[in-house]
Amino acid sequence: MANLDCYNIIFKSLEIGNHTFEYELDNNFFKSLEDAEIEEGSLSAVVTVQKNEKNAELNIQIDGTVQIPCDRCLDEMTQEIEVDEDLLVQFTSAGEETENTIFIPEHEGVLNIAWHLYEFIVLAIPIMHTHPDGECNEAMMDKYNQYVVRHIDEDQDDCETDDVTNESDRTDPRWDALKNISNNN
Ligand SMILES: [Zn+2]
Repeated sequence: MANLDCYNIIFKSLEIGNHTFEYELDNNFFKSLEDAEIEEGSLSAVVTVQKNEKNAELNIQIDGTVQIPCDRCLDEMTQEIEVDEDLLVQFTSAGEETENTIFIPEHEGVLNIAWHLYEFIVLAIPIMHTHPDGECNEAMMDKYNQYVVRHIDEDQDDCETDDVTNESDRTDPRWDALKNISNNN
């Protein structure tokens, strides 16, 4: 497992004021995170820190791409990622956690930002993400379609049994009458 120490922001040693940290998030970054579903990507992150007495205001900008499975064909696709998020770090041991507020005890004064960067990337992935039209993996699509069609057929066999047996019995007397007329002509 790779060392994530380089993603530590050591607030207690930062002067009050503005600071900027830059990170390259490559495949090694994703592999070093336990429980990360994304395994490949190439992004750069810029974290600006405004350190105050009791807290720090962070702005996180991330740009780049990740490799994730396409929703349509399940093949790998490249997803562009753009993050612009604020994070408030309170230097106190307890408080009401919200999505964009973190509490760190004042005596520790350190935040490892690696997982936060990862979560912002995940949140930036659109719910539906697919290859552009016509660029899906056709072999995967064929397999998928065969699977789906087979299952629909099986479902229909189950629920339409009655209709199928009635089909041969079903004749409409009006059609019979019409047929007789045309036959006679
Ligand atoms: Zn696809």
